[in-house]
Amino acid sequence: MLISLLACFHLPEPPVAGSLTTPEPTALPGGSLRVMHVATMTMRESDALAEGFEGTREGVISAYLFDHPTQGLVLIDTAFGRRTFEDPKDYPGPILSGLLDELELKRPPVEYLADLDKTAADVEHVVVTHLHYDHAGGLEDFPDATLHIDPVEWDAGTKHEVWRGYNPTAYKRRDNVELLAFDGPSIAGFDRTHDVFGDGSLMLLSAPGHTPGHSLVLLNLPGGSFLFLGDAAWLDDNWQLPMPKGAAMRRMAETDWEAAHDVCWQVKRWAEADPSLTVVAGHEIGNVDALKVWPQAYE
Ligand SMILES: [Zn+2]
Repeated sequence: MLISLLACFHLPEPPVAGSLTTPEPTALPGGSLRVMHVATMTMRESDALAEGFEGTREGVISAYLFDHPTQGLVLIDTAFGRRTFEDPKDYPGPILSGLLDELELKRPPVEYLADLDKTAADVEHVVVTHLHYDHAGGLEDFPDATLHIDPVEWDAGTKHEVWRGYNPTAYKRRDNVELLAFDGPSIAGFDRTHDVFGDGSLMLLSAPGHTPGHSLVLLNLPGGSFLFLGDAAWLDDNWQLPMPKGAAMRRMAETDWEAAHDVCWQVKRWAEADPSLTVVAGHEIGNVDALKVWPQAYE
């Protein structure tokens, strides 16, 4: 089945861009990473993979907590916040919640923080791969944190009301937003980058396609590097084969699905060149078993 689908899929392989090396900061400040699985949902395989697939597959919606030794707690994507746990019809709202088949809510990030005797006020910074509701819906639970974001994504996510996966009621009124210049060095072929703290620990890599200002997030810990793909890839198959998402969903949800597919090619090559890089696709259910279980931490 898979082979026949691959054989009939004729999108050409894009040229290799740039050198495929993960940057090696010389003096990483340390810190730790913990993974929060906030919800699961059912994804139709025709949505998640390619036309012709049948059946359904479980997907996960996650947030990630980086404890920086001097900058404080940093959220990488927020998943859903308390409002969704109270009523998904309120957030993300009746239209968008209708897209979430068999949504099973686990715990919002603020509840995970309580395990560490932390509160929302302890989160100093937030970065999001993009502003879609399942990645940024929890922003309103962290009103004091600084949101670091691509100005293109901020514009796309705030210029309308509910639109193409955005529901800006979770973030449009926040005033502590840092719009990034993306003036960092090229990293593994991604030419627009931003070093959030100037120490190499947390980098945003501009990777438009799924949304106009989508970013990948590269977290460098002394023990290893993590690349969070957001929705550049929903599943490992999207970047490992690579295989674009299903036709209906990519046309409905994505700004430029071919650009998103090129991002997946570049990630695949990067991961092949650096097997120590841990690549985390946005909704891959295998992440639940593959990544350390909360509150265990990577350091
Ligand atoms: Zn998503």
